[in-house]
Amino acid sequence: MKQRGISRYFAFLLFFFSIAAFSQEGAIKLAEGVYAIKGPGAGINTGVVVGDRGVFVFACDLRDYDRRLQAIRSVAGDRPIRFVANGHHAGDDTMCNHLFAEQGAVVVGSKELARQLLPYWPKRAAQELKQGKVKREYLEGKNVAMAMPAITFDDKITLDLGNHVVELISLGKTHTPDTIIAWLPKEKILFVGDLLFVEHHPTVDDRSDVGNWQRALKTLAGWSPASVVPGHGAFAPGNGAKPLLDQDRYFETMRAKVKAMKDAGKSVEEIKKGVQPELGEFAKWPRERAIPATAEQVYRELPAK
Ligand SMILES: [Zn+2]
Repeated sequence: MKQRGISRYFAFLLFFFSIAAFSQEGAIKLAEGVYAIKGPGAGINTGVVVGDRGVFVFACDLRDYDRRLQAIRSVAGDRPIRFVANGHHAGDDTMCNHLFAEQGAVVVGSKELARQLLPYWPKRAAQELKQGKVKREYLEGKNVAMAMPAITFDDKITLDLGNHVVELISLGKTHTPDTIIAWLPKEKILFVGDLLFVEHHPTVDDRSDVGNWQRALKTLAGWSPASVVPGHGAFAPGNGAKPLLDQDRYFETMRAKVKAMKDAGKSVEEIKKGVQPELGEFAKWPRERAIPATAEQVYRELPAK
């Protein structure tokens, strides 16, 4: 009798923990029919909109494809994935495109994203195969044609899923030259891809434009979003504009410190090595490997006196 009691207790615990694990693994609800899937660690997050006319997916990491598809299915049932879009051309965002397209989804992207993705995808696919962290059948014998946007746009396109509308908007050069965000005007929800790294040092390099990036962050914050799903880092329903403004403040701090060090006669190499402790509240964020390239690009963008 006593033993049965104990095994029941363990069965209950097991049940409880599997529910807890599932809720962490699965889709996080932001509004009716609107979800996001958290990437593992600082891995890219996926946005999902389940509409009457099918499902919209924004950004997906091929290494984590099975779990994400399962999470999508857990909220969308067998509704078809109708549209797929990306925050930009990088592999952690675009390498599931062809798998969704093979199931009938239409990849939608800006002309600039298409221009960046075409030469990039085959190289990235070869690299992924070599590293062996994805199922080989997801890449072997595949080609870039299926990963490419089949519908392209210049500035903006509206996808009408019936009960949900998704606006894809090109923001030009921020993190990379092909920044795209997804905006749900009715629900005031933003999927912003690598425009936003929450509480992680963002990746910035010589393809970035930090000034324009900050303008974009402020513009989007001005739309008073209810929830914002970053490319990388944590989010929660109702997080609002704060993470966008935090990222803007991060760059403002970086610029002020880089400029102060330059004015004090430091070389760009000294600034790249020495700026981290100057970043105050941001200094301790993870992904510190990204700091030197960010400092260098901010330095490059300083007005030439
Ligand atoms: Zn990314």
